[in-house]
Amino acid sequence: MAIIEELRAKLPAWVEASRAIAVEGQVASYIPELAKAPREALGITILSPDGEIVSAGETELLFTMQSISKVFTLMLAFMDNGEEGVFAKVGMEPTGDDFNSMLKLELVEPGKPFNPLINAGAIAISSLIHGSTPAAKVERILAFFGEVAGGAALSVNADVFRSESATAHRNRSLAYFLKDNEVLGEEIDVEEVLSVYFQHCAIEITCGQLARMALVLALGGADPVSGQQLIPRRYVQIAKAFMIMCGMYNASGEFAIKVGIPAKSGVSGGILALVPGRYGIGVIGPALGPKGNSTAGVHLLETMSASLDWSVF
Ligand code: GLU
Repeated sequence: MAIIEELRAKLPAWVEASRAIAVEGQVASYIPELAKAPREALGITILSPDGEIVSAGETELLFTMQSISKVFTLMLAFMDNGEEGVFAKVGMEPTGDDFNSMLKLELVEPGKPFNPLINAGAIAISSLIHGSTPAAKVERILAFFGEVAGGAALSVNADVFRSESATAHRNRSLAYFLKDNEVLGEEIDVEEVLSVYFQHCAIEITCGQLARMALVLALGGADPVSGQQLIPRRYVQIAKAFMIMCGMYNASGEFAIKVGIPAKSGVSGGILALVPGRYGIGVIGPALGPKGNSTAGVHLLETMSASLDWSVF
């Protein structure tokens, strides 16, 4: 049986088996608006370069990208500033600490975040996106994400944006700490940077759109339909290296061993994953495990990778 047919035949049962363990997790509630997500939902879409679509579960669910957006703002920041400009502000190493931790911010060069996927690093990256106002920056981010998602008209969920902005004491303190250490320079308004950061985290998406974004990464930055290079190959390479090292929070090592593909999760329960050259994958399962990843989503990806031999290692 062709692999795609095997996938199509087995996916519904795999989804139901993984959904059964979703209840072991909890929906994120530190952003109050996220607590409304359906705890037992699970949806997945898989896209192949030749246009095959395989889906199962609640793929119609709209959810916010949260930390998944950081992968794409990173690539836009590279396109705006080059490698040197970006790595002047963030490092290249995983932390082993929580995504919103302050612990290692003083360790390397004062205030310089270890990597662009922890919150401090992603806030620094938001400050690098070109645009004359926060609104102009968010417009550019939406246009770029939409293009990578296959021409989708994406928008910011205003309720999630406001909900996070009103309660983000931790992210606010991280950002002011970056300002104190001049990672955010003299000319930069901290609240404006935070507004851009919260808005890109609150961009709404479906599994299918996430899978399309993942497929572009699986193809080294090329659009699967037009073949146009949407993102320079080198920047996609760097993004995938970060996804392997720290895309799944402090379970990134375990995920690399058990699943073995580049992936990035977010606190909304979304996961973007890819099998290089072969598939783009979007998953939503709002119930999170202790490390902040979708319990059902990770279980499903583990099952699929083991059955279909997806590990890149
Ligand atoms: N907007 C969220 C925050 O900054 C994103 C966190 C995440 O998905 O890891 O807390």
